[in-house]
Amino acid sequence: MRIEEDIKLDFKDVLIRPKRSTLSSRKEVDISREFTFKWSGKSFNGIPIIAANMDGVGTFAMAKKLGESKVGVAVHKHYPLDDLLSFYDKENTEFVWYSIGMAKDDDAKLDAFLKKKPESIERICLDVANGYSEHFVDFVKRTRDKLPEVTIMAGNVVTGEMVEELILSGVDVVKVGIGPGSVCTTRKKTGVGYPQLSAIIECADAAHGLGGLICADGGCTSSGDIAKAFGAGADFVMLGGMLAGHTESEQEIIEEDGKQFLLFYGMSSDTAMNKHKGGVAEYRASEGKTVRIPYRGHVEETIQDILGGVRSTCTYVGAKRLKELSKRTSFVRVTQQLNTVFGNEQ
Ligand code: 5GP
Repeated sequence: MRIEEDIKLDFKDVLIRPKRSTLSSRKEVDISREFTFKWSGKSFNGIPIIAANMDGVGTFAMAKKLGESKVGVAVHKHYPLDDLLSFYDKENTEFVWYSIGMAKDDDAKLDAFLKKKPESIERICLDVANGYSEHFVDFVKRTRDKLPEVTIMAGNVVTGEMVEELILSGVDVVKVGIGPGSVCTTRKKTGVGYPQLSAIIECADAAHGLGGLICADGGCTSSGDIAKAFGAGADFVMLGGMLAGHTESEQEIIEEDGKQFLLFYGMSSDTAMNKHKGGVAEYRASEGKTVRIPYRGHVEETIQDILGGVRSTCTYVGAKRLKELSKRTSFVRVTQQLNTVFGNEQ
């Protein structure tokens, strides 16, 4: 047994120090990014925020709406083949990531899709709860061999050595985060995890050294957290809970006492497994929870609010473009974030 003594940080442990700036308004800030991916050689030009591949978040409706603002969506893997085919046929999928896990049916569905529309998938997200298994690395390598020109995002991991292994195995963007998610119970069930801000700092460093990128996945509760993730070196940021609860969630709206709610749940929660897999497999614990959240209307206002927040961060540190944010970020360690005298809601 060994203990790492140096302190690892989460979003709640820091604030971004303001810096002298020549920018007078957040309108002057450009929060899009351009990347050329290491393995696929494809380019990206858009806002590097991605709606998570979860029920209620990574939906077709979300992809259509967020695409209008150049924000990406990882479409969840439970859509039937025909629906996926017709979506890719009809819609602009420039900002869409096709998602799969390691299940056999995911592979079979992807093969069937590629048979019908061989060139249409530009980006793919290989998503497993634990990206540390050799089995997963083999899966990544096989996928890279099969799809040499597709941009691959894969994870999740939280440490530099595994980021390097995944990049060397063919991943363009490594997804970072174990346990920080809003409906994730991994840390509680298993005791495993890593504070998300430190995970981002360490993994970004490892990835950038090899010409790869990272996507910070999970744990953002506000636009301030998203800005901290970018400031820490994240190239992309993935959001679940912050985008849940909208019309575009494609979930049933429940009415009770004049109030409207939606269910939001982890993709390995009992709710998701009952819905998609006909029950929780005996060997695996459910590591996600189900919550009831207020219905929030269309996602448009939420996303504009998020983008406005990140733009505003850039003006506070004098970053004219999002690309400059991490270079201009100094984090200050804090013991308190907010004044909660009127609650903590907004
Ligand atoms: P959020 O933005 O809601 O904090 O985090 C979203 C992320 O939580 C997702 O992108 C995914 O990585 C993770 N996640 C989603 N469902 C589950 C689950 O059931 N269990 C765990 N451990 N993580 C989940």
